[in-house]
Formats: sequence, structure tokens, C-alpha cells
Amino acid sequence: NEEKLININQLVTEVVKLVKHQLNQSGIDHAVMVAEQDVCVLGDRNQLVQALLNILLNAKEALKGEKHPYLQVKVQKQESEIQIIIIDNGCGISTKKLNRIFNPFFSTKQEGTGLGLSITHDIIRDHQGQIEVDSEIGHGTEFKLTLPVSECHK
Ligand code: ADP
Ligand code: MG
Repeated sequence: NEEKLININQLVTEVVKLVKHQLNQSGIDHAVMVAEQDVCVLGDRNQLVQALLNILLNAKEALKGEKHPYLQVKVQKQESEIQIIIIDNGCGISTKKLNRIFNPFFSTKQEGTGLGLSITHDIIRDHQGQIEVDSEIGHGTEFKLTLPVSECHK
């Protein structure tokens, strides 16, 4: 595991590019809004890619059968924090299930491993960050990752 300065606007753009083909094939309308300024995080690039990928692929699955599936990814800087926000208008998560989604092996899917979000949670924790989730059945889900900002140029 290598600690490096990672440009989050670039990282998010790249991860969305990795799933773009799948999103298009599923007819999912999507948008990326990066922060106005360069924002960087000190951390492990591959791990952060994995953490985001897990959230995006869940969103894609949650959007199955949605009439106007939509996925939005935003990067914003709030003082000394970077926020990465992932919003879908998919099936949503019940309040009862919401406090279990980060548990290893919790899955509501026929062929789910239930490991994605538990891995994402650990990766974000290892980067001194936080994950918040807000969801409403039938309306959609919002994940907010918060990470400490590092100077992009030293
Ligand atoms: P898996 O995808 O293998 O089921 P995860 O750990 O990635 O495991 O996710 C755990 C569970 O959290 C999923 O099975 C699903 O019920 C719920 N979930 C995660 N993200 C979303 C989302 N964006 N919309 C609705 N449900 C979600
Ligand atoms: Mg998953």
C-alpha cells in the first residue's frame, strides 16, 4: 500500500469512466460535478478507486427497473474536508436495513457477497474519513464520503 497525493477530481472522473459503459448499457443518465479547485487526499489510489467503485456499482444495481435512472457524483471542498457525494434515484434502503449495510456479508441480492460496502467503509476509515448514507425507499440513496484535504502541491 502506497501513500500518495491523489487528485480527487481526477480520481472520481476516472472511476466514473470505468463504469461508463455499464451505465450507458443500463440506460443510466449520469453526471459528474468536480470541485472548482484542485483537491487532494493523501492515500492509496487503488484502494480509493475500489471504495468508489463499490458504491457506484451498488447504485447501478439499485437503479435496475427504474423508469428514469439517474446517478450523480459530486466532489466538493468544505473547509479542510473533501466530500464525494454519490446520489441515485434507485430503490432506496429501508431504515431497518440502513444500519446493517456496512456489515460484512449483509446483502439483499440473490448473488451478492455483501462485502462491497464493508470494504469501502474500512478503506475510508483507513484514510481518516467518514461515510454517511441517507436513503428513502422508492426515492433513492445518497452516500457522502468525507476525507481530510491535503495540499496538492508541496
Ligand atoms: P452487495 O452489493 O454484494 O449486496 P454491498 O456491501 O455492496 O453488498 O451492499 C450491501 C447492501 O446494501 C446491498 O445488498 C443493498 O441491499 C444495499 N445497498 C447498497 N447500496 C445501495 C443503493 N445505492 N441503493 C439501494 N441499496 C443499496
Ligand atoms: Mg455491492
